Amino acid sequence: IFRIACVALLAFAIVGEESASGKGSPITFQAEVSKMLDILINSLYTNRNIFLREIISNASDALDKIRFFYLTTPREPTNANGEAPTMDIRIVVDREKRLFIMRDGGVGMTKEELAANLGSLGSSGTKRFLEKMKDSSDANFIGQFGVGFYSVFLVADKVRVASKHDDSEKQWVWESTGDGTFFLYEDERGNTLGRGSELTLELKKDADEYLDIDKVKEAIHKYSEFIHFPIYIQTTKT
Ligand code: ADP
Ligand code: MG
Repeated sequence: IFRIACVALLAFAIVGEESASGKGSPITFQAEVSKMLDILINSLYTNRNIFLREIISNASDALDKIRFFYLTTPREPTNANGEAPTMDIRIVVDREKRLFIMRDGGVGMTKEELAANLGSLGSSGTKRFLEKMKDSSDANFIGQFGVGFYSVFLVADKVRVASKHDDSEKQWVWESTGDGTFFLYEDERGNTLGRGSELTLELKKDADEYLDIDKVKEAIHKYSEFIHFPIYIQTTKT
């Protein structure tokens, strides 16, 4: 109960901090999160491909959740163009801008959930992960600790997560370079998702392989065995 109260307080503090323009003020990660990111990025024997497994499993979880939810609340939210979200996972690789983008039409996250799920919590998992990493240089098991999302920083310098929970809410963006802080701001593009999440990874200089859709496909095949939603991948240039 104490933990729940802390979560509520934290969410409240963040929500209370509205900014007039731009990205607002940076919000500090919980200390363990920064430490974990540091260890993760420097773990020698970690296969960077695991970020694909982690983000696809999160997208699949989010789609599962909405499928369940719609059994009781059949309502289809739409984006600003009147388009409904799709029950699938779509990856777009922008070779020119070096972006790896993944969208899902899943349950999405509210502003509070973005802050709580990606920014500050997972505390018990973070601690257990740090404990395990004391005598290991292999972080491939990160997903087991409920902090798999952070594996995106294995391949990206900067990560943006745009998310829209349902049509009664605005679309919010969580953004971080994994350096100890994150930003939380209203998406200047408005409601592009209708519902769901969109991860934009600004790839590291040495992460060119994720701009090659054949290589990405191959890696995804290994991890998507138990994913029962379609996964599409395309590049912006032919
Ligand atoms: P886990 O999946 O084990 O809970 P993660 O670090 O992978 O841990 O993700 C943390 C949380 O962030 C998830 O539990 C979920 O609430 C939220 N999340 C991550 N990705 C998405 C997504 N694509 N859609 C909705 N929620 C997400
Ligand atoms: Mg996960």
